[in-house]
Amino acid sequence: MLGPVLIVGSGLFGAVCARELTDAGIRCRVVERRNHVGGNCHTRPHPDIGCHEHVYGPHIFHTDAPALWRYVNRFVTFNGFVNRPRVRHGDRVFSFPINLLTLHQLFGVSTPAEAEEALRLRRRPGEDESSVEGWCLAHIGEELYETFVLGYTWKQWNRHPRELPADIIRRLPVRLDFDDNYYTDRWQGVPTEGYSRLFERLLEGVPVDLGIDFLADREYWLKRYPLVIYTGALDAFFCNEFGPLEYRSLRFEREVLPLADFQGNAIVNYTKREVPWTRIVEHRHFDRKPVCGRTLVTREYPAEQGPGCEPCYPVLTPDNLARLGRYRALEAELEGRVLFGGRLAEYRYYDMDDTIDAALGALRGLLGPDLEEKTCMHT
Ligand code: UDP
Repeated sequence: MLGPVLIVGSGLFGAVCARELTDAGIRCRVVERRNHVGGNCHTRPHPDIGCHEHVYGPHIFHTDAPALWRYVNRFVTFNGFVNRPRVRHGDRVFSFPINLLTLHQLFGVSTPAEAEEALRLRRRPGEDESSVEGWCLAHIGEELYETFVLGYTWKQWNRHPRELPADIIRRLPVRLDFDDNYYTDRWQGVPTEGYSRLFERLLEGVPVDLGIDFLADREYWLKRYPLVIYTGALDAFFCNEFGPLEYRSLRFEREVLPLADFQGNAIVNYTKREVPWTRIVEHRHFDRKPVCGRTLVTREYPAEQGPGCEPCYPVLTPDNLARLGRYRALEAELEGRVLFGGRLAEYRYYDMDDTIDAALGALRGLLGPDLEEKTCMHT
C-alpha cells in the first residue's frame, strides 16, 4: 500500500490527484504556496456584481473526451457558456476565430467557395512553416496575419512571431463556414458556481495547508513523505541549476465600471501592437447573468514572470527546450520519489482537460490498473 503522499500545489493536477488518492484510501496532504486553492483556475464571487471573477484570466473548460466531461460533471454543473471571442483592430471589430464572417468583413466574400478562393489567392506556399509567421503566411496570407496574429502574438510572447514555433498558432482554427465557436470540442462551459466550487469538491476531505512554500523546506518534506507529487515550476525545484525555464506571465488590471455592459462579450482581443493589453475580459458574460448596473472588466497585459505575476505559459523556444531536457535528466535521479506533473512541472502548454487526463494517467501508473476499481475514475 502506498504511504502518505504529499501534493505540492492545489491546481487542477494536484487537486485531481488528491481526490483520486483519497478515494483509493491513500492518505494525502496538499501544501499550497498561495492563500487560495485552484492555481490559475481560481475564481471568486464578486460581492456586488454577483458574477465570478476569473482572477488569473478566463478559464473555459472544453473537452472532446466523454470520460473527462463526465468526470468534471461529477463535481460541478456547467452553465453552457460558449466561447465566441471578438477581435478589436483599431476601430474595427471582427468575428473570431477566423471564419466566413471574418473573411466577409475583411475581403467581402460571402460563401465558403469564395472564402476558399480568397485564401488561395493570399496563401504563400513555400514559406518555412516552422515559425508562427511562416505558418500564417503559408496558410492564411499577409492581411489576416497582420490583422489577427502579428501584433497580438508579439505582445503576448514579447518576441517577433518569426522567432516563435508554429505550434503556438496551430491551436487557432481557420474556418470557411460561419462557425465562430472558439473550440472544436464537443463540450465546453464554465462551472455555474465558479471554479472555486470545483476545487472545493475535488479537495473535500483532503487536508490542505495554504501559504506553505514547499521549496523553502524541501529537504524536510522529502524526508517526511515517501512520495511527493510536485506541480510547481520545474526549474525552481532544482534551484535553477541549469538556468531558468522561461514562462510568459500576465498582469491584470481590474476595474468596476458603472455600466450594465461594457463590451457586449466575455472576451475581446486587441490585436494592434500599439495597444498595450492583449485582451479585455468582462466577467459577467461568463455567468450569463442578467445585467445589473455595474460590470467588472479586466485588462490583461503580457508581462515577465516576477513578483505579482504568476508563471503562465511555457516559452517553447529551442533554448528552453534544451534546458528542459537537462532538468528531466535530474528528475530521473530522484528514483520515482517525486512525480512531476502539470503545466509548470512538466513545462507544457496544457489545456484543462489534458491536465486532468495527465493526472489520472499518472495515478494509474502509480497505483496500477485496480485504481479504477477503488475510485470513481471509471466515470
Ligand atoms: N493569437 C493571436 N491572435 C489572437 C488570439 C491568439 O495571434 O487574437 C495567438 C497567440 O500567439 C496566442 C495563440 O494564438 O498565444 C494561442 O491563443 P489562445 O487564445 O489559444 O491562447 P490562450 O491564451 O487561451 O492559451
